[in-house]
Amino acid sequence: KPAANEGKTAVLKVGTEPSFAPFEFQDEKSKDYAGFDMDLIRAIGKQMGAEVEIQSMGFDGLIPALEAGNIDVAVSGMTITEERTQKVNFSKPYYKSGLTVVVKTGNSSIKGFGDLEGKKIGAQIGTTGAEEAKKIKNAQVREFNTPPEAFMELKAGGVDAVINDKPVNDYFMKETGSKDAQQVGEPLTAEDYGIAMSKKNTELADKINKALDELKQNGEYDKIYEKWFGK
Ligand code: GLN
Repeated sequence: KPAANEGKTAVLKVGTEPSFAPFEFQDEKSKDYAGFDMDLIRAIGKQMGAEVEIQSMGFDGLIPALEAGNIDVAVSGMTITEERTQKVNFSKPYYKSGLTVVVKTGNSSIKGFGDLEGKKIGAQIGTTGAEEAKKIKNAQVREFNTPPEAFMELKAGGVDAVINDKPVNDYFMKETGSKDAQQVGEPLTAEDYGIAMSKKNTELADKINKALDELKQNGEYDKIYEKWFGK
């Protein structure tokens, strides 16, 4: 099979860190990859006539995997940032996000980002949340492999707050977290998610953007959006 990055997109190798519901997670029984990003990249693959193969890796391993050519695209709720743009290409933005703070239920001293000075803060390694945490004065930042691990440590009392993406925090609150944790304050950032690709592969970016445009025009993007986020 020719690789997607040779122009004939027979197979599109996708990398993701699947502990970021509702964007990417593994179904408990089938272990299939599910979520908004996973539906979106499958729809993009279909639109491009490519077979989508999804593999799991650490979030901080995604950009190195793109640079090494081990995957064609990273779809992982990844924010388009200046720093990452030096290393990889991004598709057009496909989802608007931002960071919020999660604290233990009943914590009345942390009401938002302004109250985090000198606190113990948890975040996922390699993320914009971890970057923002490191900017806070005298904060002790602990980086976890996945957001659920950071939430567990919050529950255990090892960190005072977790900084993570708002839609993922919303979902966590709705599904499981609300008895142990609460989300506080206004979002700190406005971030756009993009599909990341190797810089060597400019043709692929054009194809992905074209497919994304088509899915927005034909209503497929809206269908996937509503499935995961409602109207
Ligand atoms: N959007 C954040 C980032 O890009 C977090 C992504 C994630 O944890 N999957 O850093």
